[in-house]
Amino acid sequence: MASTVPSIERAARGVTSAPVLDFLRRPKRLLIGGKWVTAKSGKTFETINPANEEVLALVPEGDKADVDEAVKTARKAYEYGKWPTINPHQRAKYLLTIADLIEKHVDELAILETLNNGMAISLARGFTLMAADTFRYYAGWATKIYGETNPSDPSMFNYTLREPVGVCGQIIPWNGPIAMLAWKIAPALACGNVSILKPAEQTPLTALRIGELIMEADLPEGVVNIVTGYGETAGAAIASHPDIDKVAFTGSTEVGKLILQASSGNLKRVSLELGGKSPNIVFPDADLEDAVPTSLMGFCMLSGQVCCAGTRVFVQSDFHDRFVDHLTHYASKVKAGDPLDASTMVGPLVSKEQFNRVNGYIGTGKNEGAKTAIGGQVRTGKGFFVDPTIFTDVKNSMKIAREEIFGPVAAVIPFKDENDAVFQGNDTTYGLAAAVWTRDVSRAFRVARAIKAGTVWVNCYNNIDPISPFGGYKQSGIGRELGKHSLDLYTQIKSVYVKL
Ligand code: NAP
Ligand code: MG
Repeated sequence: MASTVPSIERAARGVTSAPVLDFLRRPKRLLIGGKWVTAKSGKTFETINPANEEVLALVPEGDKADVDEAVKTARKAYEYGKWPTINPHQRAKYLLTIADLIEKHVDELAILETLNNGMAISLARGFTLMAADTFRYYAGWATKIYGETNPSDPSMFNYTLREPVGVCGQIIPWNGPIAMLAWKIAPALACGNVSILKPAEQTPLTALRIGELIMEADLPEGVVNIVTGYGETAGAAIASHPDIDKVAFTGSTEVGKLILQASSGNLKRVSLELGGKSPNIVFPDADLEDAVPTSLMGFCMLSGQVCCAGTRVFVQSDFHDRFVDHLTHYASKVKAGDPLDASTMVGPLVSKEQFNRVNGYIGTGKNEGAKTAIGGQVRTGKGFFVDPTIFTDVKNSMKIAREEIFGPVAAVIPFKDENDAVFQGNDTTYGLAAAVWTRDVSRAFRVARAIKAGTVWVNCYNNIDPISPFGGYKQSGIGRELGKHSLDLYTQIKSVYVKL
């Protein structure tokens, strides 16, 4: 692609934060072995502001050669460096320092995230603070990674050690760049691993800025490496690399399957956090004042570019029309627009590609015979904006009810009774999340148990906290991140027999 010289004045119009402007002006480099370097090929690519389509920065296009270099330095840091074997209190201190630095720079990081991703600034702030909390949470675990003593024959003593896995390749998507970075790097480091992170091509900037903060925290060189570049080259090189021990991926189910195939060469450990088509089930006894706006943000937060978005809204038939009226009313009041404006709820989609994809699905919905209660028009002008769109007259078998759209688009589908709600809710290849709205406690517990999904929300939506596992049933993934479950992803168990 021919590179345009970025005009920061145009791309970051309205931004006055000196640290953000300074960062944008600095040349972007890869972080390899504690040094900032250009891609070996010398190539760069443009990263844009999706709210105005202007080029924010040129970013190094790392590829296989750069991944090879990062693996060499990470391997050295792992085998000969102090990181895997330092006193756990010290490791915790490093993670706490990173958390403090992220929090100290929350305004700057949030603006940068919004500029590059398009998410509402209030959300970007929330994600950044969650990232700091994630580093703090895993700092706590660094000193609590226990083995066990087993009831062996008295002539023997048997115990287990939980040891790091080694060099971890971590490939993240564009929809929550700072949060995804933290979910990957924090537990990997807490367990004594070293990391090679590949941010998404659309949103590399905050990872590079946090890379600077990680250097400021004085982490030993080679422990965290950041290679910006494309999935098909840099990402694929990580997934298939013979000297990477583990790959952690968040993104589409389609690419997740490629990662799994590519990992088989050296049987790397793989964890996958993939897509979803989550059912949000509303019974007539729900608290409508809460259920309606929360269900709306369940598929509009981050313009619906959320893996656990509640995009299939199931409503009991006799109360369907009333619910749709309320939902449409709230949707008409959603403040969509400039994501840097503190009162904006919904910003643009991340890219032209996503804009075309989401509008394509909206067209498909209409062709399938679904009706739009609100939205559904293709917006013109600068920026990749899509209005909240609610489809009715949807059957769970339609394409718009089966495939991940990744935009602020929901299908409202009627159900007869509790069994039907659970049956339709589970009738999907995905199983990332679900919600149930009811005041009937027994029903809430029954449905929560019957739904096949990794997270179930009762009378709430999109609540995520690093204390609790997150991940998918069925084709929504393999393994669980967050909580103590990330320790399973980033440690391996050794059993030691001692003859007495
Ligand atoms: P994607 O391709 O799955 O991107 C996720 C990450 O994987 C990015 O860093 C990507 O690099 C990398 N990647 C792509 N191909 C790869 C390969 N062959 N080997 C290794 N890594 C590879 O997702 P997308 O293209 O950005 O979005 C497409 C659709 O995926 C969306 O519309 C949405 O439905 C879904 N999606 C889901 C999530 C989620 O959290 N579940 C997140 C993002 C997207 P590049 O940035 O260069 O592609
Ligand atoms: Mg892609």
